[in-house]
Amino acid sequence: MEAAGRLRLDTLPRLQAAGEAEVQLRASDDGSGRAIVQGRVKAQLTLTCQRCLGPVARALTTEFKLVWVRSDAQAAALPPEPYEPLLSASGRVQVSELLEDELLLALPIAAVHATAEECSGLGQRPALRHVETPANPFAVLGAGRRDR
Ligand SMILES: [Zn+2]
Repeated sequence: MEAAGRLRLDTLPRLQAAGEAEVQLRASDDGSGRAIVQGRVKAQLTLTCQRCLGPVARALTTEFKLVWVRSDAQAAALPPEPYEPLLSASGRVQVSELLEDELLLALPIAAVHATAEECSGLGQRPALRHVETPANPFAVLGAGRRDR
């Protein structure tokens, strides 16, 4: 199954960024019965400067390849490469949380303006938004979904 779409970053509460990401996801079988989730996220983020609390624009692209495991024991038994475990006892994965984790991993440790001119202190912290969890995990991606 493949899905592609756009994700509003202000729907990810832990990320604390505004902006939008282009997301491609693909779920497949690796041939040995393992479920693989691969993805690519290209994001234009507006982060909060840690010095002046103003908006800082950043672009980043991250790719990941995860293998679904039901338990820590199963994760420990994986071959070391190229598998990164995605732990879910139920087999259900919250796609928005998965993408949020990957973006958090790819982010700079602390966002600050590059120059004193940009770092004005005039910015305001973007408001966080709460969004209901969709019943269909891929629905978070909006338009563009297709099944294979
Ligand atoms: Zn700043």
